[in-house]
Amino acid sequence: MFNQDREQAFAKTALALMGGAGVVATPENFELFYAYASGENPAIAQVMGAVINAKTPFTPELLSDLRLRCLSGARAAVAMESLGGDMSSLINDVLGKLESSARETADYKHTLSAATGELDSDRNPADVRKLVEGLIAATRAMEQRTKALEGELQASSQQVCDLRGKLDDVRKESMTDPLTHIANRKAFDEAMEAGRKAADAGDDVCLLMCDIDHFKKFNDSWGHQTGDQVLRLVASCMAENVKGRDTAARYGGEEFAVLLRGTTLQSATMVADQIRSTVETKKLVKKSTGDVLGTITISIGVAKFAPGETAEAVIRRADACLYGAKHSGRNMVINQDDARIAALETSAA
Ligand code: GH3
Ligand code: MG
Ligand code: MG
Repeated sequence: MFNQDREQAFAKTALALMGGAGVVATPENFELFYAYASGENPAIAQVMGAVINAKTPFTPELLSDLRLRCLSGARAAVAMESLGGDMSSLINDVLGKLESSARETADYKHTLSAATGELDSDRNPADVRKLVEGLIAATRAMEQRTKALEGELQASSQQVCDLRGKLDDVRKESMTDPLTHIANRKAFDEAMEAGRKAADAGDDVCLLMCDIDHFKKFNDSWGHQTGDQVLRLVASCMAENVKGRDTAARYGGEEFAVLLRGTTLQSATMVADQIRSTVETKKLVKKSTGDVLGTITISIGVAKFAPGETAEAVIRRADACLYGAKHSGRNMVINQDDARIAALETSAA
């Protein structure tokens, strides 16, 4: 049931916000601002809220990026629902075909047993001939029906394959961060759960928590959109330094997380430093103007799963190391065994 007053209030707020920010009232923009005004989706509230509070101008590029980022999750849910509908009508169709085929098989069996009964009694050759002709006709009809059913089921199985492919695409999309194209938070949570189980079974599993240094200042100097380009670049540096069952993910905003399977704390620290140095050596140039933006750096905290430990505990420890790296001057990697962590803990106590 729609609550008309509520819906109208959301629509009015959306239009007022758009008017205030000088955003053209296209249906696409309205969809975005309405979603923000309704406050139903926390991700939209956070991203849009940050842009509105920072009074960043809503350029067409920013709007298109926000729509992609904010509405794609909602779209994936709609796509999933429509695929679910297609799947269930296909299943009903196949079940209907199987039921009618079962009925026809029962009729055929009935014809056969009736004929057996008639053959038992004394019959003249003409009657027997008629009976056999009837049986041949019933058998042919059954044969044709079976062939037709075979074709219909083959077509249905092709449809099932197509639907499975689409379902895979939607699933992949629901696990990917639309801005950076690496794993999103949901995919990271799943990878962490698998990592926790592997660590319980004795595997070496490490977590890197990474955060861009002074990113607010970068956004303030060069704009949110250029900031987004940097997020893409940092994500690609993560992705190029991990392999196999490792997961590089956008944890949120300008934070990234990397889960490394079968990797000791020492090796994980080396991977982290490799990522840090890859980012540091990239020279940033604004595509549209050719402006040289300098370089960007990241800080990384590294923690290792202990058997029986929860994912939250490891995230907390990696976060504490990240805090230590920021505190010790940024553009560095600190792992849980680093003496600087112990020193920080002592000074906090
Ligand atoms: P520190 O070195 O201590 O991490 O400083 P910082 O400025 O990076 O940290 P802070 O947490 O103060 O600011 C994070 C900034 O990241 C705030 C926000 O403008 C920016 N940010 C978060 N998400 C996004 C995003 O999706 N796109 C862009 N362009 N900026 C983002
Ligand atoms: Mg941060
Ligand atoms: Mg930061």
